[in-house]
Amino acid sequence: MAKCSICGKPAVVDLRYARRRFCAEHFIEFVERKIERSIKEYKMIGKRDRVIAAISGGKDSATLAGVLDRLRDRIGFELILLHIDLGISEYSRKSREASVRLAHRLGLELVIFDVKEMLGYSIPEMALRLRRRACSVCGIVKRYVMNAAGIELGADSVATGHNADDIGSYALKEFLFQNLENIGKLVPVSESIDNLAVRKIKPLYTVYEKESFLYSLLRELPYYHEECPHARLDSLDFTIKEFLNKLEEKFPSIKIQYVKMLARKGSNYPKIVEARSCRHCGLLSLGGECSFCRITRRLRKSPAGPMVRRYFSTLRNHS
Ligand SMILES: [Zn+2]
Ligand SMILES: [Zn+2]
Repeated sequence: MAKCSICGKPAVVDLRYARRRFCAEHFIEFVERKIERSIKEYKMIGKRDRVIAAISGGKDSATLAGVLDRLRDRIGFELILLHIDLGISEYSRKSREASVRLAHRLGLELVIFDVKEMLGYSIPEMALRLRRRACSVCGIVKRYVMNAAGIELGADSVATGHNADDIGSYALKEFLFQNLENIGKLVPVSESIDNLAVRKIKPLYTVYEKESFLYSLLRELPYYHEECPHARLDSLDFTIKEFLNKLEEKFPSIKIQYVKMLARKGSNYPKIVEARSCRHCGLLSLGGECSFCRITRRLRKSPAGPMVRRYFSTLRNHS
């Protein structure tokens, strides 16, 4: 039987790309060290920072919150969890439940934004009325809510649970369509734009999807394992991920090398330079009206950006 490269106990995992095998205890330590190194190398979190971790309720969220929770005393930062309830039937109900249990387990403060309650429509209802794909509406809403929460709750950064597989496949997809400005956004840290956009960080940047899954499993952190019903197995995203897995099988560690290179060179890609403030809500927009205010104005006659900002600023005043 294979043995742990550190203590010699039976190994639960064989990481070919790292040429190491680990028992549960040393695998957990390995993942935590790897994330801590990324946080330092890419200067993600500083002492006394206030960090909001956006959690969906899935395995990557559990890993993100679980590791940041263990690092917060060592580095010395404050951690708040944010969950956005998208109103996608059973999937959202279970994801919200898992997020609540995760926050409870770790003893962390959790802020919930309920899309249906706040905006009057769930994501599928919004998509239907706007005649747009649910995933595109969902992306606009999530990005907006995370940014508004970050600004209003006075966060130094908002952390998301994107792992190396996510980042590598997004970058490859954007490359195929030559959306080069979007590749530049896939770096470990996107700096803030004063009062318009909060700083965004990706602590799981160099963590493989499989590692993230195994970490939350071995620590028995609560998570909901189903994919969003709107994610399709025949989609391009899924096929690109499979392709990267094939590459990795043949050339172990290529995914990690790829994302690390992206971290180094990502800033060379073109950027959208003109950052303006939305005339309704005052946050980042490209054409004077942000996408969130535009879609909510079409749905509800009045743009919902200002209301979302007020919701989070009230929370801040109460805490
Ligand atoms: Zn061991
Ligand atoms: Zn706006």
